[in-house]
Amino acid sequence: MDRSIQYIKGVGAVRAAAFAKLGIKTLEDLLYFFPRTYEDRSEMKTIDSCLINETVCVRVTVSSAVRETRIRRNMVIYTAYVSDDTGMIQAVWYNNKYIKNVFVPGAKFVLYGKIGSARGKLQIENPIYERAGEHKYTGKIVPIYPLTGGLVQKNIQSAMAETLVEVGEIEECLPQEILSEYKLRDINYCMKNIHFPESRDAYNSARRRFVFEELLALQLALFYQKHRNVKNSGYVFDNFSGGEELKKNIPYKLTKAQKRVIADIVGDFKSGRQMNRLIQGDVGSGKTIVAACAAFIAAKNGYQSIMMAPTEILASQHAEELKKTFSGLGVNVVLLVGSMSQKEKSFVRDQVQSGLADVVVGTHAVIQDSVIYNNLGLVIADEQHRFGVNQRAKLCAKGNNPHMLVMSATPIPRTLALILYGDLDISVIDELPPGRKPVKTYAVGESMRKRVYKFIGKSVEEGRQAYVVCPLIEETEGADLQNTRERFEELKRLFPDFEIGIMHGRMKGSEKEAVMERFLSGEVSILVCTTVIEVGVNVPNAGIMVIENAERFGLSQLHQLRGRVGRGCDQAYCILFCLGGGEITKKRMETMCSSNDGFYISEQDLSLRGPGDFFGTRQHGLPDMKIANLFSDTDILKLAQTAARHISDNGLLDTPEYAPLKKRVEKVINRAEILN
Ligand code: ADP
Ligand code: MG
Repeated sequence: MDRSIQYIKGVGAVRAAAFAKLGIKTLEDLLYFFPRTYEDRSEMKTIDSCLINETVCVRVTVSSAVRETRIRRNMVIYTAYVSDDTGMIQAVWYNNKYIKNVFVPGAKFVLYGKIGSARGKLQIENPIYERAGEHKYTGKIVPIYPLTGGLVQKNIQSAMAETLVEVGEIEECLPQEILSEYKLRDINYCMKNIHFPESRDAYNSARRRFVFEELLALQLALFYQKHRNVKNSGYVFDNFSGGEELKKNIPYKLTKAQKRVIADIVGDFKSGRQMNRLIQGDVGSGKTIVAACAAFIAAKNGYQSIMMAPTEILASQHAEELKKTFSGLGVNVVLLVGSMSQKEKSFVRDQVQSGLADVVVGTHAVIQDSVIYNNLGLVIADEQHRFGVNQRAKLCAKGNNPHMLVMSATPIPRTLALILYGDLDISVIDELPPGRKPVKTYAVGESMRKRVYKFIGKSVEEGRQAYVVCPLIEETEGADLQNTRERFEELKRLFPDFEIGIMHGRMKGSEKEAVMERFLSGEVSILVCTTVIEVGVNVPNAGIMVIENAERFGLSQLHQLRGRVGRGCDQAYCILFCLGGGEITKKRMETMCSSNDGFYISEQDLSLRGPGDFFGTRQHGLPDMKIANLFSDTDILKLAQTAARHISDNGLLDTPEYAPLKKRVEKVINRAEILN
C-alpha cells in the first residue's frame, strides 16, 4: 500500500506527477481517492429503443468506413455508421483522428454516449468505446473521478483497476467487533465496490462503510486530542469568596442555564486539570456574565485573566460591563486595543506586568509579545479565536497552562459540535433571560420601503433606535461602502430632524468607536452600517433592525444580526429587505420570520446550504472529507460517534486488535489543522 503509484501499469513518471497534484502518491492514496460520481453503463439498449437526449450503451458492429469532414480549420468530424439487429445509427466524433484506424467495417464495439440528432436523424455523439467483450469501461457502473490537468477519466479508472489487482488482499482497518456491531462490509468487498460497484446495493454498502470509517477516525482523532489537553495539569482555583458581593452588583438573577454553566467551570477550576471549554449559547443568552464570573474567580485566587474580543468596539463594551460588574470588589479591569496611543498602551502594559491589572480585555493585541503577564490563569475568547498550536504555545508561555474558555454564539447541532469542537468540553446555555419577547420578523420587497421608513420614523419619535444593515459586497471593491453611503444620505434627507450615524469596515477603530458611543448614548437614532455590528455589541434601546439585501446573508448571519435587537423590554422588529432570489432565499426568509430559535435556524441553514458549502468546513479547520458529508450523513455520524466514544472510553485503541485503526487515526491527526 505504501508503494509509489509510478510503477503501476500505465502510470509512469509523467502521470505520477499529475496524480500527485490530486494528493495521490501511494497505492493507498489512490485507493482512498473515491469517485465523484458514477455512470450507470450497465444497461444495454438496442438501437431502435434509443431516445433523443438519452445517454446509452449500445453493442454494435461497424457498418461503414469512417468519413472525415473538415468543417472549420481546426474542426474535423469523423462519422461512421454502426448497427445492431434492430437498426443502424450514425456515430460522431470531433477531432479524434484515431477513430479512423479503430472503426473498420465489421469490428464489434460497445459504445456509450449521448443520443442527439442531426438533420432529423438520431446519432450517438462522441461516444466512449471499447471492443466487445472487454467490459472495462462499459457494461457496468463506471466511476467518475475528480480530474486534474494531465489526466483523463480512463487514466484514473485503469490505474484504479490495476491497483486493486496489484494490491490484492487489503488489510482490514476496522476491528471485527465494530464491523459486526455496525453491520459494515469488509474492506476488500467495499474497496472493489466503491470503485467498480457490482450493483447499487453493493455501492451503498461500500459507501456506508467508508463514511463510517472516515467519521470514526476523525472523531477518534478529536477525542484523542481532547484527552491530551485534559492531561495537562492546570491551576486549582478553590477560593470562591466574594460571590455574594458580586451577586449584588448584577442587576438581574442568573438563569438556570447560566448557573449550570458556571458550575461546569467551577468544576474545571477545582479539578487540577487545564480547562478547555466551549460555551455555546444563542445571541442574547448572556454569555458575558458567565465569562465575568469565571474571571472574577480567577482574580479572587490571585490570577490574571484575558478576555479577547473580535473587535475593538466589543472589547470596550465588555470592559465597561466588567468594570460595572466588579465595581467596589477590588477586581481591576483594563482595556488594551491596537488603536490606543503608545503612551496609553505602555501604561496598561505596566499594570499588566506588575499584576495591578486583574482582567485584561482587548483584541488580539492582548496576546502580543510585548504584553507580559504577571500571573496569567485564564483566557476567555470568542469563537473567532480558536487557538491553534502556535497560539496555545504562546499563551502557555505567558502563563502556565492557563484555563481556556471559548464562547460561541453559533448554535449547532450536538453531533456537529462534537466534530467541530471535539477537542473541547461543551457547555450549552439553552435558555434566554426571562421576559424576552421574540423579535417580530418580516421579509418585504422594495414596494414596502415607504411604509418601513414611516414605521422607523414613528418608532424613533417614540424614543427608540434603529439599525440599518447593508451587506458587504466583496465582488466589487468599494460597492458596500457606496451602498452604505447612499442609504445614509437617503435617510438623512428623509429624516432631517434625526441624528443618523454611519459605520463601516473602512473606518478607523477610533472613528467606529465614536459613532458607536453616540448610538449607545442615544444621541444617534438610526445607525446605518455594514456587518461590523454583527458581533456582540449591546444597545438595549435599539428596537428595529432593518437588513438590506437580506438575500445576500446566510441564515446564521441573519440570526446573529437580529440578535442585536430585542435586548430591552419593548417589542423589537426585524425587517428583511429581500430582492428576488430563488427557492432557497424564500425558504431562508420564511425560516427567519417563523423562528427565533438559534439551534433550529442553524439546522435549517445547514440543510439549505447543502453539501459542499457546509458553513465553510475549511474555516473551521476541519480536514477535507474524502467521502462523508457532515450534514447528510448525520445518521452514520451518530453511529460513528457512539463507536468512537466506546473505543475511547475503554482505551481500546491501544489494544492489538485496534492497531490498524490507530494507524488511520494518526494519519487524520497529521492531516487536520484543527488538531494542531
Ligand atoms: P450574548 O450571549 O449574546 O453575549 P450578552 O452577554 O451580551 O449575550 O447578554 C445579553 C443581554 O442580556 C445583556 O444586556 C445582559 O445584561 C442581559 N442578561 C444576561 N443575563 C441575564 C439574565 N439572567 N437576566 C436578565 N438579563 C440578562
Ligand atoms: Mg456576546
